[in-house]
Amino acid sequence: MIAVSSELRQAPSTDQEVADEATVSTRRSVLELDDLRKSYNGTPVIRDLSLTVHDGELLTLLGPSGCGKTTTLRLIAGLERPDSGTVRLDEASVTGGNFVPAEHRDVGVVFQEFALFPHLSARENIAFGINEWPEDERRARVEELLELVGLSEHGEKSPDELSGGQQQRVALARSLAPEPQLLLLDEPFSNLDVDLRVEMREEVREILKEAGVTAVSVTHDQEEAMSISDRVAVMSDGSIEQIGTPEEVFQQPESRFVAGFLGHASFVAGHVKPDCVETGIGCIPFDQINGLTDAYVGSEIDLMVRPDDVRARPAGPEEANGEVVHRRYLGPTVLYRVEIDSGDVVGCMHNHADKVSLDDPVFASLDADHELAWFPRGERKMADGGRERDD
Ligand code: ADP
Repeated sequence: MIAVSSELRQAPSTDQEVADEATVSTRRSVLELDDLRKSYNGTPVIRDLSLTVHDGELLTLLGPSGCGKTTTLRLIAGLERPDSGTVRLDEASVTGGNFVPAEHRDVGVVFQEFALFPHLSARENIAFGINEWPEDERRARVEELLELVGLSEHGEKSPDELSGGQQQRVALARSLAPEPQLLLLDEPFSNLDVDLRVEMREEVREILKEAGVTAVSVTHDQEEAMSISDRVAVMSDGSIEQIGTPEEVFQQPESRFVAGFLGHASFVAGHVKPDCVETGIGCIPFDQINGLTDAYVGSEIDLMVRPDDVRARPAGPEEANGEVVHRRYLGPTVLYRVEIDSGDVVGCMHNHADKVSLDDPVFASLDADHELAWFPRGERKMADGGRERDD
């Protein structure tokens, strides 16, 4: 028996509730990847990749092109077999001796190019995957989904009569129709122009949350990952560097790679004194530095700062501690790069009305209302708490 409206669960009403729900690790795991490995022609592409996705959670695999995101998605979908390791769906293994092929996995996929049938209406496209359902249930499910994606008035239109955003909503509804236990989204916004992309991110998140669906999406776009996900898994070279809420991975990156990939990270050399960390932009108190303890007194560290953490103002030669070496006008803001006297170069973001000219001497200082991440000099903190030499 196929449940129809009862499948649409009560949506959490605020983003905070969504995040709270998502961080409850006691929830049923819908997907588990355990030590997955995959090579092509002897070259490892996926290395010991493990992660768990909980019921109702939206997790995004984020990383640069070629880091293995699509391959991971294909391994989950059953379009590739891992060389070793396990994929579990709803706690049952679908790999190894009991490999379950894609068509028998209860997994839906939303492709980049939407892949709608041009000769079918929106309604028929959505119904496509559930043609074997009893007629009345199928009709009810399609109407329910048209309403969910806000297209009740457009059911008879063919894809070429719909806007890009509407086509994407039809593609999403079609993938949700058979009530998959897991939905995979492969760079779902890459086919849309920039403005629509931003709008659709919000919409797709709302639709997925309203449907209560568990989903894994893939993107190389940091902003997209941050804005749609409950958790983000940052990938590099076939493995996961860090996994956490968008706030965790952005504010407390556990490796320089994650720090750099998620925004314009600059590093400022610091010498840890008993009460503060001496840097080229002032002595930064301990309580502004995440997890720094007395045990590090006397050591050299690198503090991570982002452009919104640093201010630079024109200053006379007596007061100046650096000079502007690069200026990029971005419309609402201007991004400066300031070389401070210690030799570090830091980015700082100013309102477009602030005018500091190239080569101007400036006084750069910290202007952050949150704790800063840091890394031991010449080493990097690893996700597992171990240490690895930086190359
Ligand atoms: P991403 O989605 O992060 O851009 P992919 O998973 O598509 O990365 O690819 C990871 C690496 O695996 C790339 O170097 C790519 O060239 C390689 N690769 C992917 N699929 C195949 C394949 N079928 N045969 C050989 N190499 C592949």
